[in-house]
Amino acid sequence: MAENSEKTGKVYLIGAGPGDPDLITVRGFSLLNSCDVIIYDNLIPHELIVTTPAHIEKIYVGKSASAHTLPQEKINELLVEHASQGKNVARLKGGDPFVFGRGGEEAEYLRKHNIEFEIVPGVTAGLAAAATSGIPASHRDISSAILLLTAHGASEHELYVDWDWVSKIQKGTVIGYMGVKQLPNVVEKLIEGGMPPGIEAAMVERCCFSTQKVVCARLEDLPAEAERQNVNPPAIFIIGEVASLAEKLDWYNRKMLSGVRIMITRPADQSKWIYQLFRNMGAEVIAYPTIKTSYNDDKAGWEEFIKSGGKDNWLFFSSENGVRYFFGYLKSKQIDLRLVGRYAIAAAGHGTLRALNDLGYQPDYAPAVSGMVKFAEQMCADIEVAKIKVIRIRGQLQHDNIEEILKKAGANVHPLTLYNTEYAVWSEDEIRRLFMHPPHMIMFSSGRSVDGLVEVLGHEKALELASKSKISTIGPTTSEVVRKYRMDVELEATRHSIPDLINQIVQYYQKK
Ligand code: SAH
Repeated sequence: MAENSEKTGKVYLIGAGPGDPDLITVRGFSLLNSCDVIIYDNLIPHELIVTTPAHIEKIYVGKSASAHTLPQEKINELLVEHASQGKNVARLKGGDPFVFGRGGEEAEYLRKHNIEFEIVPGVTAGLAAAATSGIPASHRDISSAILLLTAHGASEHELYVDWDWVSKIQKGTVIGYMGVKQLPNVVEKLIEGGMPPGIEAAMVERCCFSTQKVVCARLEDLPAEAERQNVNPPAIFIIGEVASLAEKLDWYNRKMLSGVRIMITRPADQSKWIYQLFRNMGAEVIAYPTIKTSYNDDKAGWEEFIKSGGKDNWLFFSSENGVRYFFGYLKSKQIDLRLVGRYAIAAAGHGTLRALNDLGYQPDYAPAVSGMVKFAEQMCADIEVAKIKVIRIRGQLQHDNIEEILKKAGANVHPLTLYNTEYAVWSEDEIRRLFMHPPHMIMFSSGRSVDGLVEVLGHEKALELASKSKISTIGPTTSEVVRKYRMDVELEATRHSIPDLINQIVQYYQKK
């Protein structure tokens, strides 16, 4: 969607769901990935943000390092400002935008300023917490009413809700938002109003996360039990006979990696399948890329590729990114893929081979040797390279000596440099949120991603994070970089591939 200053853009108030990135709606996801700017809150899954295309502007308006939220008035103005510039705005809010999310106020403000808007509903935390804790919000025999309420008031002692009225609910379920601090106060008022002190109740912290906590108790005991088990926001309380089913219907945290938080540092656009795989196994994914790549336009390299081809002409791929940027360019420029057919193809590395296979290519030369130098030496031994011309597809920072080795053996090598690698930049808030729930395991798939962590956090903070986590790497070269920074390596893949590294991580937690 292009920016157009003549026309006003539209604002989409989108519910992101309760925290699991898979729980946004298809419509919300599609808008998020096609808008011009995303304005998002606290409690939005980081993965939803980092996997959107790089050209989309992202603005965080949640709690800042000083724990202050951007005032609502400023957020409203921001929405109008961007839409007035002709941009389509994805205003991403936790849960459902119209359930305790101030979405109503934002919509009113937009209407007042003649900005078109659309509301995309989301899975609200209260109902998600019921689902993931095995407490049916309604139940044919014991609950035919669901009351969603907020325990948040203007001040600590003042609550907005008429608790006397709530306490009279019969055969119903009371689901409370923002109630951690107010829980003792709320329970006292409910019991005063006549709610049976022995009725079942539960507190669900961080529902839909792999580290979700469910605390069940009789209503009168819930505040003490929640305190004993150290329940922290965000949490939902559920009161009603249905809560007695929690134990019987418990189903959540039962997967292989339940309770494990894994931080993935490689670029987000290459990691979606890894995020999904880990999540399917029950892990919580911390999608914090330390590096990112961007396209580099190498005109001379492309000219060489277009004019060459034929007998003894090779395309040499040595990274997944090389494959991605190479074929991405051909597609975007509508260059006939049959040009590729004039070349023999060499693929170094497991990920490179897989990326080519995914596109339907079966490389002519792809021995399973680990390490780029070894690969190039092996190629010189197996093929008469003195006769060949090689278009070497590469990234700007790939200092792996492949070109030198091939040249020395007499090959005519032309680099085609297709991408730049840069360090990511994390905001203060992202760093704060990372340390709030630090990973159990950090996964590094290249030395550069380790450099990236030290670059984005600074060495001291990187060491602090490493001291709270374990580190796993794709192989010895990456481990060396980790140790260079005085951090310890707990796990190392043996076959220098991401699937193998994932396997090792799974086995590690299975043994524990
Ligand atoms: N619009 C949101 C609610 C925002 S109010 C929605 O529809 O869900 C913020 C409150 O939501 C938190 O204080 C907490 O009570 C609840 N909440 C949000 N995410 C949660 C989660 N993952 N687990 C438990 N409670 C959550």
